[in-house]
Amino acid sequence: MKIKEIGGEFALIERLSGLVPGTHPEVVQGIGDDAAVVRIAPEPAPFLLVTTDILVEDQHFKRAWASPEQIGIKAAECNVSDIAAMGGTPQWMFISLVLPAGTEVEWIENLYRGICQSCRRHSIALLGGDTTQGAVVTINITLLGSVHPDNLCLRSHARPGDALLVTGPLGASAAALALLTSGHKPPGYLLEKHLTPNCRMDISHFIAPLANAMIDISDGLGAEVHHICAASRVGAEIVASSVPLHDEVRKAGALLGIDPLLWAISGGEDFELLFSISPERVPQLKASGVLCHEVGRVTDRPGAVVLIPSDGIPIPLAGGYDHFQ
Ligand code: ADP
Ligand code: MG
Repeated sequence: MKIKEIGGEFALIERLSGLVPGTHPEVVQGIGDDAAVVRIAPEPAPFLLVTTDILVEDQHFKRAWASPEQIGIKAAECNVSDIAAMGGTPQWMFISLVLPAGTEVEWIENLYRGICQSCRRHSIALLGGDTTQGAVVTINITLLGSVHPDNLCLRSHARPGDALLVTGPLGASAAALALLTSGHKPPGYLLEKHLTPNCRMDISHFIAPLANAMIDISDGLGAEVHHICAASRVGAEIVASSVPLHDEVRKAGALLGIDPLLWAISGGEDFELLFSISPERVPQLKASGVLCHEVGRVTDRPGAVVLIPSDGIPIPLAGGYDHFQ
């Protein structure tokens, strides 16, 4: 059987997690969220957070389009983004590299300069890794961090009636990629969002104490809403006209004849945060100076995850990017 035939990447992860031996008392959250959560001492001691991500040459980056520094920044930021999505603080990093035999040392050093720039920004200590030879450059980062139990935001914590908010405009990274693959030069804003995303550690600490569920937007708004709804056993309504799009994303859509909403919903790699929060807490969040956009709400109808277009007639909300679909 091929991965495609069982429904793609997420269906595969679900099947694999079914083979993993059962729960351990110290595991607060195993497979199934942005990071694993482990109890290391009696509460109120913080929980340990662990996340890992792989970037593969030509799947996730092209050496012709991105400098090694940019690739390093992106590799680090997408991990930090997962820790931010749990409401936590990133602390310790390990890097495993697969390198083709002919890789220039200068390229690898510049990759590290990018990774270290991100580590400095977030006060992360880089503690080790592994290096081996292989066909294409592959960068695997494992990042550990911690979260106070009160600030932990699991995908499973959304409640019917919650508002759904995102931390910034979506679709820019996918718009840049669409322009690049069709031979256009993306404007600076889009290129920066695509090549050197800045995860939202800057505001996650304000959101976490107030939010219920949270997830980072790595595979598109559609996929992330589905993940929250599946984990929380709830439904959701997303209002199409409320999804924030930058002017440059709209312009790119007009140029390529693509509805820019598709990039926001199914494009991915925005590394903004999506969270659910009880509506009476939204004014408190806004008062703390956090700029967020309400895109919809959580409902008590599990399985009903819909988009409401301008005609008001709900349609199923599309999923996001899947490496095997
Ligand atoms: P994210 O996009 O936030 O990095 P993923 O979709 O990669 O999340 O992963 C979702 C969940 O599945 C996470 O808990 C992750 O640890 C787990 N996971 C992904 N791949 C595997 C695997 N090969 N084996 C076990 N768990 C996995
Ligand atoms: Mg994530």
